[in-house]
Amino acid sequence: MSDTIEKVKCLIIGSGPAGYTAAIYAARANMSPVLYQGTQPGGQLTTTNEVENFPGYPEGVTGPEMMMQLQAQAQRFEADIRDGWITKVDFSGDVHKVWVNEEKEIHCDTVIISTGASAKYLGLDSEQKYLKLGGGVSACAVCDGFFYRNQEVVIVGAGDSACEEAHYLSKLCKKVTMLVRRDEFRASKIMATRVKNTENIEILFNTETDEVLGDGQVVTGVRVINNKTNEKHEIEATGFFVAIGHKPNTDIFKGFLELDETGYIINTPGTSKTNIEGVFVSGDAADHVYRQAVTAAGTGCMAALDAERYLAAKDATFEVSTSSYN
Ligand SMILES: Cc1cc2nc3c(=O)[nH]c(=O)nc-3n(C[C@H](O)[C@H](O)[C@H](O)COP(=O)(O)OP(=O)(O)OC[C@H]3O[C@@H](n4cnc5c(N)ncnc54)[C@H](O)[C@@H]3O)c2cc1C
Repeated sequence: MSDTIEKVKCLIIGSGPAGYTAAIYAARANMSPVLYQGTQPGGQLTTTNEVENFPGYPEGVTGPEMMMQLQAQAQRFEADIRDGWITKVDFSGDVHKVWVNEEKEIHCDTVIISTGASAKYLGLDSEQKYLKLGGGVSACAVCDGFFYRNQEVVIVGAGDSACEEAHYLSKLCKKVTMLVRRDEFRASKIMATRVKNTENIEILFNTETDEVLGDGQVVTGVRVINNKTNEKHEIEATGFFVAIGHKPNTDIFKGFLELDETGYIINTPGTSKTNIEGVFVSGDAADHVYRQAVTAAGTGCMAALDAERYLAAKDATFEVSTSSYN
């Protein structure tokens, strides 16, 4: 083994709520975790100003503030938090190999994957402008719908998730306009029917977003275009929701881990275990259903406990700590 190879008991990839929670538990269980933050230290929540649904913050908290607190909590127990991007893995042998920034090689007893998923956006300049301003563009109805109570919103998408999010919004908002690019939904019949039967959801088929309109600070409407007639018109709205899917950040695991057709890592139900022993997954990288900070944190805890038990079973000298449960 060359000098440049580091040996690590527990390597955590990703610094969102899943990764940091795994680090807190692993550090308190004497697993000396090393966590690589990736290009988005703190994960997806660092892109939002208001988190009102994470337990323990009665007044709400900004995403960056919450993630700094999670990092500090992990560091309090001496988790080793590092800059770096995992560019390659090799899970084919007994030792799990991971490369950082294409250079540094690490051999790991256990790996916890917490690489999250990225929401897809349309890519319009106006959409990105108001997304970055926090001014009314969102890819998460459950996270942000509450801020649009009794207001009019537009949602783009045609799949099951889009239908579910539109239905969720319809219970909070005065009116939901749903833009569907084709002349039919991609969603299952039952989901499409539920949306069609909801009084305050208007569905515009063959309709695409031409521009997100705003006053420079916040969204005020959406200009849409009918892709059959090329006619354009404007819809008043204070919120613009994009529900066209997510891309899990799991490309580097292809060929080693079982992924579903979208790229989510498949875990053994009720656990964080993957098809490779000693490799565990937590957070949005394996979750196309809930995609919330609290569920990511919960599965981060599961991954650390599963990794701890795996180590204990493999190595009689490594004792399962009781500290995880205190
Ligand atoms: C705008 C917005 C607002 C939201 N608001 C809320 C809300 O109010 N409440 C709520 O519960 N949820 C909210 N969510 C959802 C929530 O952010 C996610 O469910 C949660 O962050 C998922 O956590 P995670 O740890 O799985 O992954 P993420 O937060 O996505 O973090 C992934 C981490 O992995 C790292 N990474 C990825 N690939 C690599 C690699 N190859 N090497 C090293 N590191 C890597 C990234 O740098 C990042 O640190 C919101 C999401 C968005 C986008």
